[in-house]
Amino acid sequence: MPGFDAATRELMRRLGADVVRTDVASLDAAAYDSSKIPFRPEAVVKPRREEQIGVVLALANRHRVPVTVRGRGTTLTGAAAPRRGGWVIDMLRLNRIRIDAEAGMAHVQAGAKIAPIQAAAEAAGWFYPPDPSSKAYCTIGGNVACNAGGMHGGKYGVTRDFIIALRGFLPTGEYVEWGTATKKFAAGFNLRDLWIGSEGMLGVVTGAVLKLIPRPAARWTLLTAFKDETAALAAARTLFRARVQPAICEFLDRDSVHCAESATGRPVFAGQKDRAVILLELAGTASEVREVKTAVLAWARRHAVAHRAARDRAEAEELWAVRRKCSGAMFELGDSKLNEDITIPMRSYAAFATFLAGLKRSSGLAIPTFGHLADGNLHVNIMYHRADRAESCAAEVAVDQLMRKVVALGGAISGEHGIGLAKTPFLRIQHSPAQVQAMQAVKKALDPKGILNPGKMFDIFHVWQHPRLAVKLPWDHK
Ligand SMILES: Cc1cc2nc3c(=O)[nH]c(=O)nc-3n(C[C@H](O)[C@H](O)[C@H](O)COP(=O)(O)OP(=O)(O)OC[C@H]3O[C@@H](n4cnc5c(N)ncnc54)[C@H](O)[C@@H]3O)c2cc1C
Repeated sequence: MPGFDAATRELMRRLGADVVRTDVASLDAAAYDSSKIPFRPEAVVKPRREEQIGVVLALANRHRVPVTVRGRGTTLTGAAAPRRGGWVIDMLRLNRIRIDAEAGMAHVQAGAKIAPIQAAAEAAGWFYPPDPSSKAYCTIGGNVACNAGGMHGGKYGVTRDFIIALRGFLPTGEYVEWGTATKKFAAGFNLRDLWIGSEGMLGVVTGAVLKLIPRPAARWTLLTAFKDETAALAAARTLFRARVQPAICEFLDRDSVHCAESATGRPVFAGQKDRAVILLELAGTASEVREVKTAVLAWARRHAVAHRAARDRAEAEELWAVRRKCSGAMFELGDSKLNEDITIPMRSYAAFATFLAGLKRSSGLAIPTFGHLADGNLHVNIMYHRADRAESCAAEVAVDQLMRKVVALGGAISGEHGIGLAKTPFLRIQHSPAQVQAMQAVKKALDPKGILNPGKMFDIFHVWQHPRLAVKLPWDHK
């Protein structure tokens, strides 16, 4: 095995060529995630058994090799890119799913994807609500590591709310279990929750026990149109104040609506021009949905300039397809996107709408914004042309102003994507020095040699200064 250092040669001897890949195609595929900023690893490990991960980490500690865990690489932040090289652990072969239909739990390995987990739960009459738009591709391990959310977050919660227990390996290579397959567990510190959202820096998740809830029997979808963003956001607050909890409450500003319209070649809301839109879905038992539907229709008549209920699931699916199209369609406004996923408290919606209108004017950039109104998680997309120096600078200034405003309004610089590389310049806007030091102390305690996902979260990295690969990923423009 010439050409490799001693550590990689030992890794290959211990785990074999089926598990340890060093061919160019494997290294290239593991070099980047959806941020498309590449860093070449030296080897890619594709474990077939969970114990093999302990072997990798023990060896990595002995030889001080950086290790980055990878689910499917759908993260948009650079969190899964091997910034310091070394070894990438690709989790996709560890993908078993088993439903315990009596207990309402799913036992899954970390490489299992979300869509098949949901399908297995549904087939057993249960429901796993966390639903990132990337669910056909992303893994539960990645969802745990990023505390992924999605459209259902406002009513049901995010990944954290559905994790009963986790197992896996500490960065040092020791096996640990946080919790058991029981709904109550009060034995010791809750390190399970420390792993959730730790972005592959505090341990490698190999398996999880997920909480399931009964599958909703009925759904109802409504499309509503508003004069502008301020009117839409104010109307949403009146709905929540009336204690209505839609399963989904998606907002599209006028720019996002225009993007969706040019992508589909059809008006989002026939007969309505230049409107902000809210798409609502109610879910529950048939009688629950019937009852809340009456209240929602009264609300729509009062606050929206127009509304239209889907007649059946096929029509509802058409409406959701429009929502899914708007993100990819934004590339007509610029070849590059700073895709932010901030969270705003509801009380600050009006102030945020005013700020956003001002930011669009002052930056001169298109900033289409859409997102989940029931939990305040908005996707603010700052579009620019990379080769245009003035636009790139304007984007850099705009993202900084956005993050400062979000924190000033009591919000979060990330609601579901995490920090990775992309948000490292803003971590210290959100967190005080004492908070950052506490996080670094935890990292040091669990990973004394700093081998797991180094160079992320705390080390500042300006993504907009780095060229990105011109590759098309399977989930682009979805
Ligand atoms: C089109 C598109 C739509 C998206 N929509 C959403 C959305 O609606 N909601 C949302 O929350 N996110 C969304 N995302 C972001 C992304 O899909 C999520 O962050 C997802 O959780 C990443 O999962 P993954 O398996 O691809 O993980 P990766 O991207 O491979 O890794 C992400 C992070 O998790 C770590 N990690 C992965 N597996 C493990 C493990 N087993 N143990 C420890 N650490 C691990 C990695 O080291 C890395 O830090 C979207 C992305 C795209 C491209």
